[in-house]
Amino acid sequence: MMIEVEEDWRTPFIALITDQMVLEDKIEHEKLAQRSANYIVIGKELYKKAASTGILMKCIPRNEGINLLHEIHSETCGNQVASGTLVSKAFRSAFYWPTAVADAKELIQRCKGC
Ligand SMILES: [Zn+2]
Repeated sequence: MMIEVEEDWRTPFIALITDQMVLEDKIEHEKLAQRSANYIVIGKELYKKAASTGILMKCIPRNEGINLLHEIHSETCGNQVASGTLVSKAFRSAFYWPTAVADAKELIQRCKGC
């Protein structure tokens, strides 16, 4: 399977948190700064604090997230599991990436077994 090369969504967060990067666009910078309030960097890894539980979720690249969804889905395929359930299982195993909900919906829509 080919993995699409796309920009790692974690890069700007890590740059902002560890290097105090400043974006040229002030509005964009403000948005990123607000979003980064829930993130911390430990070592070189980015973590997100879960809003409800405070648990630290390891931030993973989108392609790893999609692989994780496939793994979880393969155990529940055909059981008409909602995409939200897939996502909450992924997050409960303490992994996070921002497009999880859309990625789970797409996976289920494309699946012939569901
Ligand atoms: Zn399926």
